[in-house]
Amino acid sequence: MIMKRKKFLLDENLCKLTKCLRLLGYDAVIPQSISIDKKVSLCQKERRIFLTKSKKIANRKDKFHRILIKNVNYDKQLQEIQNLVDFEESELSSRCLVCNNRLQTINAEKTECLIPKNVRLNFSDYKICRKCGKIYWKGSHFVAMKSKLKNLLTA
Ligand SMILES: [Zn+2]
Repeated sequence: MIMKRKKFLLDENLCKLTKCLRLLGYDAVIPQSISIDKKVSLCQKERRIFLTKSKKIANRKDKFHRILIKNVNYDKQLQEIQNLVDFEESELSSRCLVCNNRLQTINAEKTECLIPKNVRLNFSDYKICRKCGKIYWKGSHFVAMKSKLKNLLTA
């Protein structure tokens, strides 16, 4: 049986970890300027796991799933939660790193004018975020991040 993928809510100071989770295909929100109470109720409503560096939040009496993150570097942070996340090749690059939106595959011909020529010559698979318009392809940065995440999570 396939378990439903976990969803996360992160503190504002965990943006790099948020991007890693999105790259791995996880639904990870990082709400800006809303109160802690609102964040907690969002976690309860949407069954999100609250990742925080704040002991105050971690020690709250309310009932919600929370994890206190101890490390400063995102690679170590990711390892702290490695029992919660999986490296699944098919889920990689399925979300926009900027806005968490699900990406859609787009036709290479239709995007010709949006993609630099040197990229078009080397890649054919493109995905777009319908929210912010960002286009993704599996370039060198993606390949490097992918092997880094794989090493971190499957070591
Ligand atoms: Zn986006």
